[in-house]
Amino acid sequence: MAAAFPANLEPPLPVSNSDNNVPLIDVPGQNEPLLDDLVEAAARVIRSGQFILGPELDRFESQMAESLGVAHALGVSSGTDALLLGLHALGVGPGDEVLCPSFTFFATAGCIARTGARPVFTDVCPVCFNIDLDSARARLTERTKAIVPVHLFGQSADMDGVIGLAQECGAVVLEDGAQAIGAKYKGRACGTIGDFGAFSFFPTKNLGGFGDSGLLVTNDDELAAVAKRMRVHGMEPKYHHVDIGGNFRMDALQAALLAVKAPHQDAYNAARRENAAYYHEKLGGLPGVEIANPAHCRCAAQQAAALSEAGTKIVLPVAYDHNEHIWNQYTIRVLGEGRRDALREALGAAGIGSEVYYPIPVHRQECFAGLDPEPLPVAERLAAEVLSLPIFPELTRAQQDRVVTAIATFLA
Ligand SMILES: *Cc1c(COP(=O)(O)O)cnc(C)c1O
Repeated sequence: MAAAFPANLEPPLPVSNSDNNVPLIDVPGQNEPLLDDLVEAAARVIRSGQFILGPELDRFESQMAESLGVAHALGVSSGTDALLLGLHALGVGPGDEVLCPSFTFFATAGCIARTGARPVFTDVCPVCFNIDLDSARARLTERTKAIVPVHLFGQSADMDGVIGLAQECGAVVLEDGAQAIGAKYKGRACGTIGDFGAFSFFPTKNLGGFGDSGLLVTNDDELAAVAKRMRVHGMEPKYHHVDIGGNFRMDALQAALLAVKAPHQDAYNAARRENAAYYHEKLGGLPGVEIANPAHCRCAAQQAAALSEAGTKIVLPVAYDHNEHIWNQYTIRVLGEGRRDALREALGAAGIGSEVYYPIPVHRQECFAGLDPEPLPVAERLAAEVLSLPIFPELTRAQQDRVVTAIATFLA
């Protein structure tokens, strides 16, 4: 069933907390308490007749710029379009190379390729799953134009390292923060550190919208002006086209609805953090289960040796001390050939939702076969071992206990 769905779309798992199941996510459950305000906002927009740009979008953009602590926030049509618009505005195109991690959702790399640039895939860290800067450095050339780090599953990449590497080679930085809106790196909001940051309001992201939409942010006034123009066909003033942009606009309706949810963002993230802490406590107490050791950051061989010596069967994710993780996913590693798929099946049989983000690293995707990519051992290993468990804010302790019991039974 799940295989028929795109990687970031949920199959129609049970989504109601009233039945005897533990869904992977409960989208209606999150929106229900806000229903009156949402309906009121929708009615206001419908009555206004102003559906494209306008005051609703302006208001939402100011709200997001303020909460992220960034100078400019542009509402756009999706997270994918935020990435694409950012790359276009940075002038990335044919002849350029752009570094990105291979262990990510496809859009990161797809957008790079769509500009005409060549995506250059890097390996990732086996602890935080984010871009491995040694692997990135080894792939720099004089054509390297940009670096696109991804803050995967809600935890920041090593942004000091990324910015340092970019400065060394004169590259620009676009942060893929689709899974990390509200996450922090050394106190700064993810997405506000590079030249641009891209966010997604896909319904399963931490701030989930009502359809597709996204946000592009920057502190650079000039880049903001270019992106704003390219969001409307590179038009400025009316019917004068300075560059070839596109239609990358967020709907007024979407902005009005998101504006209702945005003030609850911190509470949603706090609930996810508490759920992660509970898993750490309960799952971490099971024999054969270890929390990933931050000392093994980017040290795959060292980590593998330690895990094998300890007889570890499951590795739990860890938040680095300098990061504020927002737990878009709680992604464990299930070690041993075929064990991940066996656990997924056992959870499914117990009525518990889970998903593999992501089963195929991007450098192994059919559409990139022509790039003849090198092996990336950590990304390939993670694709075989990762499993994401329910972590959504409305998850109850009783539901988490069921997940823990099912995993304990599996390990016994
Ligand atoms: C969700 C996601 C995107 C794309 O966002 P959409 O709003 O679905 O277009 C891009 N990158 C990553 C890492 C994502 O998780």
